[in-house]
Formats: sequence, structure tokens, C-alpha cells
Amino acid sequence: MQTCSKCNSNSPDNAPRCVNCQADLNEFSTTAVALRRLQANPRVGAIRITVADDACPHCYELLKTYPKDKVPSLPHQGCSHANGCRCFYEPVLEDTAIVGEVAK
Ligand SMILES: [Zn+2]
Ligand SMILES: [Zn+2]
Ligand SMILES: [Zn+2]
Repeated sequence: MQTCSKCNSNSPDNAPRCVNCQADLNEFSTTAVALRRLQANPRVGAIRITVADDACPHCYELLKTYPKDKVPSLPHQGCSHANGCRCFYEPVLEDTAIVGEVAK
């Protein structure tokens, strides 16, 4: 499942373009837009991928925190869920990481 950031329509995981407005989903899916925004934010130290509660095993396996420049693109290619990959990006702020270090 990919959501178009321009018209909010849903397209299948493997659709290269929005089924409604033909926008290039590599660039304009909500996940692609969110990833670019997080990568451009200097306060974001790393990026975590979050999964839906009923996500498939493939997506659960990729439930990790990634360095900003090594984040895999969504939707996950190997997803086997009937509704497709519904994973999303979540920022890990620099401050959070520092607090974690101190607490140890
Ligand atoms: Zn669209
Ligand atoms: Zn999946
Ligand atoms: Zn996924």
C-alpha cells in the first residue's frame, strides 16, 4: 500500500505511479516525502522503521533503527501481507540518543 502525497489516493505496493493522478510514487508517496524531510532535518540522528501490529514477518524483521543515509525505501519489496507493506518512518532525535547514553 502506497499513499500519494498529492491526492491521498492509495496505490498497490508495486505501482510506480499513483493510480489516480499519475504522480511518481518513488518521489511523491507519503513515505518518500517523509524520508526526505527526516533526512533534511539536522536534529534527526537516525531513522527507525515502524510496522503495523499485524505486519508480515518480512516487515517485522526489518523493524530497526537505521543510519540516516542507509534507510531502505518503503514499501518493503518482499512484503507478503494482503494489504501490502504499511511500514512508516519515525525520527530518532539526536537528543534522545544522548539521554540514552547517559542513562546507561
Ligand atoms: Zn496521486
Ligand atoms: Zn509486510
Ligand atoms: Zn514493510
